[in-house]
Amino acid sequence: MLSSPSAPVRKGLVVPFPMAFRPADDLLRAPQPRVFLSPPHLAGGEMVALQATLDAGWVAPAGPVPLAFEEAVAQATGLDHVLAVASGTAALHLGFRLLDVCPGDEVWTSSLTFIASIGPAVQMGAIPRFLDIDAGHWTMDVDLLRAELAAAARRGRLPRVVVPVDLYGQPADMPAIVDACAAWGVPVLSDSAGSLGAMQHGRHAGVGAKLVALSFNGNKIITAGGGGALASEDAGLIARARHLSTQAKEVSAHYQHETIGFSYGMSSVLAAVGIAQIAALEERVAARRSVHQRYREGLEDLPGLGFIAEPAWSRGNRWLTVIRIDPAEAGVDRETIRRELAAQNIESRPAWKPLHLQPAFRHAAIAGGAVAAMMFEQGLCLPSGSSLPPADQGRIIDIIRRCCRV
Ligand SMILES: *Cc1c(COP(=O)(O)O)cnc(C)c1O
Repeated sequence: MLSSPSAPVRKGLVVPFPMAFRPADDLLRAPQPRVFLSPPHLAGGEMVALQATLDAGWVAPAGPVPLAFEEAVAQATGLDHVLAVASGTAALHLGFRLLDVCPGDEVWTSSLTFIASIGPAVQMGAIPRFLDIDAGHWTMDVDLLRAELAAAARRGRLPRVVVPVDLYGQPADMPAIVDACAAWGVPVLSDSAGSLGAMQHGRHAGVGAKLVALSFNGNKIITAGGGGALASEDAGLIARARHLSTQAKEVSAHYQHETIGFSYGMSSVLAAVGIAQIAALEERVAARRSVHQRYREGLEDLPGLGFIAEPAWSRGNRWLTVIRIDPAEAGVDRETIRRELAAQNIESRPAWKPLHLQPAFRHAAIAGGAVAAMMFEQGLCLPSGSSLPPADQGRIIDIIRRCCRV
């Protein structure tokens, strides 16, 4: 029998180990192996890098291995100053701290994003405000941002930080966003968690923002098996982030703290995997872009079916291919296709549920919101992994085409 959490722990009690994980019966019976949305794709050099790290005894979240990973990220992004951290969410949290987010401050982000874009700021007491997206490229609507900033200035309540998001690997229009914010002295923290390897205006995604957050979680275009990075062109900011990420320990023989930090360093074990993975970044971007291209070729003639636009100033990494199904024209809705794919053991997922529609943010302010809400209703993320076999992709395209036949 398990004791309740409040019961005193009996000495010598052996907590029974939970039964080994077993996939649900319907998965075991499924006729085809499961096709995942974005599974990790190993580069081949991971074991060698891991072995070298373990042999050297460098396993802590410090030392030469995370430093080498940071150097590799700097080279891949063109951002000179990089701090490797435990997750993309930790990078965002550090970014909010560096930009001095305080209780009662407003922090703005796109409504159509993952909760981590703003979660840490809200944990710090910030008040979220969500902005609608552009109906073409699905990232922050810059005209709306300009109008909202002017209105906020009139209210005397400018945001502390604006967080544009590179949606599904499509970069936001950073020069336009930074321009709009600079007019009011508002700093930009780019959530580039999903856009490693993507370009905008001839530079890496996020470049131009004061701070850029990246993620190496297991479902991203490359993975360290978990982890993130905070990057900037400002050496001072990243030096301060480094200090805060290691418990803000002052240089002293004893433990001395002038402020309170975090334990956010990236483990050397993960950094070693990251080093092997990042070497394959260009190949992974090319592969995801080919997957996207095949979806386009296979589906774009269907009425009522569309894709996230890639404006001429950008080159997305196509981390996930998202289709938009307008039921009035397609004769089928998003959920019917998703369920049909699920019946064939193929994972697909509705686009992000806009944050302004999340119960957690039911009191938050929203500027616009109709476009984000529509993309949630009509958007479906398709399996997009760089290792997706063309035969599986062909099956996915066939299923969608069959669903659309009116
Ligand atoms: C993955 C992701 C994050 C969070 O990164 P983690 O490493 O999982 O903490 C934040 N924002 C967006 C848009 C993401 O896709």
